[in-house]
Amino acid sequence: MSMHISSQEPAMQAVNALQQLGRKPRLLIVDDQAVNIQALYQVFASDYQVFMATSGPQALTICREKHPDLILLDVQMPGVDGYEVCRQIKADPLLQDLPVVFVTAHSDTQAATQGLEVGAVDFISKPFTPAVVRARVKTHLTLKLQSDLLRQMVFIDGLTGVYNRRYFDERLEAEFQRARRSKSTLAMLIADVDFFKRYNDHYGHHSGDEALRAVARVMRAQLKRPADLLSRYGGEEFACILPDTPLEGALTLADEMEQALRAAHIPHATSGVEPILTMSIGVATLQPTPGRVEAELVVAADEQLYVAKSRGRGQASGVAL
Ligand code: GH3
Ligand code: MG
Ligand code: MG
Repeated sequence: MSMHISSQEPAMQAVNALQQLGRKPRLLIVDDQAVNIQALYQVFASDYQVFMATSGPQALTICREKHPDLILLDVQMPGVDGYEVCRQIKADPLLQDLPVVFVTAHSDTQAATQGLEVGAVDFISKPFTPAVVRARVKTHLTLKLQSDLLRQMVFIDGLTGVYNRRYFDERLEAEFQRARRSKSTLAMLIADVDFFKRYNDHYGHHSGDEALRAVARVMRAQLKRPADLLSRYGGEEFACILPDTPLEGALTLADEMEQALRAAHIPHATSGVEPILTMSIGVATLQPTPGRVEAELVVAADEQLYVAKSRGRGQASGVAL
């Protein structure tokens, strides 16, 4: 899985993908005739960040460097033609999701068919009508952004909006390998809400769900580095992966999370710890030398969670392996 969801606030809904983008969409216009580029530029300049290329090779370079969201691609160009550029885009794992719209002088069906066969999403014939070009580009862009969001949502927990177990498992494997290469220490936190069954029994399942959302929010707010990851690990359990973090730092973060949840003052009348919602956190760190496996980290963090529970809950406990 090459995709990395960078934000600490993963998008939860594909409501309006275009609005959620939070920046102008990037459009690459490719045509060997400057006058054609100019005409299309006029159409898009106000709503898009527009890049321009006058040859196939130049187009591919811009694709790799500027990451456009959509490409308007002339079919007929000397040297590398539009079909070939499209083929190369579709053959490159880093570029293949980029929607290609062909701009063709031929309105014949053969040119269009060939374009669609090499992977284009649409084609527009010259001379074009600005309003039509604008509408078609917007449609394809929205579809592209929506499918990006849907792909991300596969890794998001529906209740809390943080990453889910599936993403956690994938990232743990990747971070373990990365830590092995860089000879750094990987830390894991497993947090479990205290007496949460009683919370549900007392306040109802709906309030329980609300409380879990609050716990996720509180934990997320404590994360400091972009590489730190928070996920919902199970029912009322959350797990963090902290790359390049020794035990002391991981325990500090765990304590801060535990304190922050107390500070949120969520009433829990039937808790055996305090009359507020608390959690216990197990921490484990490991430098992945050859022969060591991810499972050791998970098992140790789980054991430390049990230690924190048996010492009275509402606290963290940790071990360096
Ligand atoms: P401990 O302090 O030992 O962790 O006690 P506990 O009651 O938290 O632990 P236990 O594992 O017995 O109960 C966990 C409870 O979490 C049971 C279940 O009803 C609740 N739970 C799990 N997932 C959800 C959820 O998505 N929503 C709600 N409302 N409750 C959940
Ligand atoms: Mg539990
Ligand atoms: Mg619990």
